[in-house]
Amino acid sequence: MNAIPNRSLIEIDRDHLIHPVMSFRGHEKAGVRILESGKGMWLTDVDGRQLLDAFAGLWCVNVGYGQDSIVEVATEQMRKLPYATGFFGFGCEAAIQLAGELTALAPAGLDHVYFTLGGSDAVDSAIRYIVHYMNATGRPEKKQFIAQVNGYHGSSSTGAGLTALPHMQRGFDLPLRWQHHIPSPFPYRHPAGDDPQALIAASVAALEAKVAELGGSDKVAAFFCEPIQGSGGVIVPPVGWLKAMREACTRLDILMVVDEVITAFGRTGPMFASNAEGVSPDLMTMAKGLTGGYMPMGAVMLADHIYQGIADGAAESMPIGHGYTYSAHPVSAAVALECLRLYQNGLLANGEKTGLRFAEHMERVKDHPLVGDVRWRGMLGAIELVNDKAAKTNFAYDLDIGGRLAQLSWNEGLIVRCFANGGLGFAPALCCTEGEMDDIFARVHTTLDKLLDYPDVRAAM
Ligand code: PMP
Repeated sequence: MNAIPNRSLIEIDRDHLIHPVMSFRGHEKAGVRILESGKGMWLTDVDGRQLLDAFAGLWCVNVGYGQDSIVEVATEQMRKLPYATGFFGFGCEAAIQLAGELTALAPAGLDHVYFTLGGSDAVDSAIRYIVHYMNATGRPEKKQFIAQVNGYHGSSSTGAGLTALPHMQRGFDLPLRWQHHIPSPFPYRHPAGDDPQALIAASVAALEAKVAELGGSDKVAAFFCEPIQGSGGVIVPPVGWLKAMREACTRLDILMVVDEVITAFGRTGPMFASNAEGVSPDLMTMAKGLTGGYMPMGAVMLADHIYQGIADGAAESMPIGHGYTYSAHPVSAAVALECLRLYQNGLLANGEKTGLRFAEHMERVKDHPLVGDVRWRGMLGAIELVNDKAAKTNFAYDLDIGGRLAQLSWNEGLIVRCFANGGLGFAPALCCTEGEMDDIFARVHTTLDKLLDYPDVRAAM
């Protein structure tokens, strides 16, 4: 047990621990919420409060908390061999097996895997390999990158410029010169409306226009996208969109990078969202569910032609200078192998079943007076709040709807993603039962009703 009283932990945190993506001053004022243990869908905090986690940590604990078999494989791997470098031609069994399994499960053609520590460095690795590939294949001018508004591609120095969320770029001198964005395929808010064919055509046309604007295919290296935009608000494009973008990239002779950091490992149903549309990207990034959040690990997978282009572009004696000390870490790899086993032995199937109950609840919550849009696929979704359903307008920022939602849902013992403009994001673990899904939505309805009780919120409607 911890010898330091909770009060002191809060003070130490406030004075010394920098939290990701927080206002420093805001966090000093609000203080840390200290979590202590977890089992299945449930977390317990240091005060013994039970919390129902509808967000799988940070859309990563797809396997649920407290999976003993994962603890066992990690312990065994740590005892046997806690570390093996991948440098200088060394390796370890777990990482090799994992590379084999991932290439078997991923879309056809993605035959080569580079392991990272998470999603941001998977994206950064993808960018570095693409740049290297263009140089190796004699196209040094083909270096412009296109991503999408509302997209999230991590917070590395390069990836954060592809990420198109204002708070990720503000103050960081981003985007970089070679980073460009096209509108997001957002059915609720796109000027083309929510007709699937019109929206798909608009995205394809925007990509074509951006490539032309940048000087054509000779100048543009790649298009980056998420199959569903996660951190940007869970924006779900129409079915067929990913395939149409794949075809457009091929036609335009630019590489397609699909960022599946959130969408992989059963989050939207299949092992990878790309599988559902029969799409084979040129590169694919992943993290989160790969290890269910139990250990840090991500990966970038390369299609054979990218690998061969890089391989043939350098003399055999010349190292290709991209590498991390902890790439293909044995303990992370062992954990990932166990997660893949759990997904295939019941978790994906349970996620599909509970996903149907999730869909029923999403349909129902749409009738709440505060809800403008509901969007989801599989066990990933969001509701967006508006103060006027017809005009689709969000509440003014000074009402701090996001902050109030965070407090109200916390009061209900519910953990959900609260978007600043007034929305709730859901990504429950795939072990979630139908009863637990009902429980999540009972708490969601109470949270929304209590938000509606605020006189200034009512007055703004
Ligand atoms: N890409 C996507 C699509 C993500 O959602 C995230 C994280 N939310 C990242 C990249 C970055 O991953 P990480 O936080 O593990 O660095």
